[in-house]
Amino acid sequence: MRHHHHLTKHSQTNYILINTRLCKACWQCVAACPSNVLGKVNVLIHKHVRINNHQNCQGCLACVKACPYKAISSLKISR
Ligand code: SF4
Ligand code: SF4
Repeated sequence: MRHHHHLTKHSQTNYILINTRLCKACWQCVAACPSNVLGKVNVLIHKHVRINNHQNCQGCLACVKACPYKAISSLKISR
């Protein structure tokens, strides 16, 4: 498996997409998620949220609302 695919798995679920370039590692989304989907990359200068359990995401979007930096986007189509 190529590294690119590994990264994709850890940056999105069926419902949300993380832009790690915008993430300031405040961990508010981690605290807000009711399903333990989100985890921390917290090593030296590498500090950003990541997806730990993509299959647990219910699409509640609490993480999207919690992020002060708009680093998490909804993948749901509004109609
Ligand atoms: S959409 Fe809800 S369940 Fe999915 S990662 Fe965000 S807070 Fe967790
Ligand atoms: S709330 Fe936003 S800035 Fe804070 S850790 Fe989550 S994605 Fe990163």
